[in-house]
Amino acid sequence: MNTKLDELKTRLREASDLGAAAAVLNWDQSTYMPAGGAAARARQAAILGRLAHEKLTDPAIGRLLDDLRPLEESLPYDDDDASLIRVTRRQYERRTKVPAAFMGALFNHTAETYSVWTKARPENNFALVQPYLEKTLDFSRRLADFFPGYEHIADPLIDFSDYGMKASTVHAVFADLREQLIPIVHAITAQPPADDACLHRTYPQAQQAAFFNKVIRAFGFDFERGRCDVSPHPFTTSFSIGDVRITVRYKENDLGDALFSAMHEAGHALYEQGCNPAYEATPLAGGTSSGVHESQSRLWENIVGRSRSFWTHYYPQLQALFPAQLGDVSAETFYRAINKVQPSLIRVDADEVTYNLHVMLRFDFELALLEGNLAVRDLPEAWRERFKADLGITPPDDRDGVLQDVHWYGGLIGGAFQGYTLGNILGAQFYQCALAAHPEIPAEIAQGKFDTLHKWLKDNIYVHGSKYTAPELIERVTGGPLRVAPYIAYLHSKYDELYAL
Ligand code: ZN
Repeated sequence: MNTKLDELKTRLREASDLGAAAAVLNWDQSTYMPAGGAAARARQAAILGRLAHEKLTDPAIGRLLDDLRPLEESLPYDDDDASLIRVTRRQYERRTKVPAAFMGALFNHTAETYSVWTKARPENNFALVQPYLEKTLDFSRRLADFFPGYEHIADPLIDFSDYGMKASTVHAVFADLREQLIPIVHAITAQPPADDACLHRTYPQAQQAAFFNKVIRAFGFDFERGRCDVSPHPFTTSFSIGDVRITVRYKENDLGDALFSAMHEAGHALYEQGCNPAYEATPLAGGTSSGVHESQSRLWENIVGRSRSFWTHYYPQLQALFPAQLGDVSAETFYRAINKVQPSLIRVDADEVTYNLHVMLRFDFELALLEGNLAVRDLPEAWRERFKADLGITPPDDRDGVLQDVHWYGGLIGGAFQGYTLGNILGAQFYQCALAAHPEIPAEIAQGKFDTLHKWLKDNIYVHGSKYTAPELIERVTGGPLRVAPYIAYLHSKYDELYAL
């Protein structure tokens, strides 16, 4: 039995290594590769991707999984070997249910759609990309149908990023959140917006980097097992548990941009770096779902990084680093500036209160499109109407409306967005549990100390990697299911005071 388990681990390690090699190429392409490398790099990435897929769908893995079933059943559910077999089986079944020819056609279609979108968005030309998006919707529906027995057609697609979460669960959670969020948004937006001019003075790149590197090192980001580079869109990638990389983008006239995206990506990286080293190069390494991953980036970026406690310690240091820019700005003015709430057009630039409304709109449209209750051609108008109703502003064009996010134009319709808001909700729920165990955490943050919080997150969440599904992990950590109440309580405690609600 142990020989079979070793053989399974060897096969999984080879596939993981091919995937990691592809990730290195992808990281290089997004950071340092000259434009001339694009065609060869696409070819190189494609062959590595195909080899990894062939390894992971090899019928030999299916036979090993069958042979190992008695071992799995003889072990406790949370045993590492039992978990490895269980998670591998789930992924193997998912991969082998979809014919390779379908995946190839989908991949080609997606690449074509993406390139059309890169023209359509700057031209503000939805009509150009509409026929491609209609085909994407068709592909998405057909992909879901390889997994019959679903409750909602979006469920199999949601499973790709947030395994175990159903459209009905997410819909109910979002409806609950929405009902409590809208009054907060209305109460805040009835007041004049905070003055954030202080963030838009000139901040040289080198000093910005010096500051946030110190911050993320204090959070616990291990520079011996990771690094930070520059790319047009910030991201986190991992080649092994010992090499987790993040990127930022600098704007010299926007202090918040690199600073908060560094904290955000560091949150993702802490999760990856904190995984049990025994899971290296197996399906148990890495975060368990997009929602749980996002809970960590949001927790470090917003709950910690935009808190009064955090800036009690760090604002004097930031002021000392930028005396000309911040010498005349009080800590209170700065705190209000970084927590400014104002409805805006672009999801990625939205504040932590209105952000979720952007996500819910997209999630509801995905369901309506997949159900056949909304046609792709009616999407731009539906977008404008819903945006006006939810955020009180009408997008002046499609460029900053339905064309703004890459997700539908570089992937599938279904399962693309819910993880962001699940992350906001979960981040607050996990933080509430950390505080219950260690009430001293806010006082430590006010001294620039994050060890207690980091250790609690590592012991309760990071170390498990993908061993538990998100619903299982939430149950283990919080003693119950996903709940909106801690997030609403967090928003009230912060913004009632800021805006005297
Ligand atoms: Zn993120």
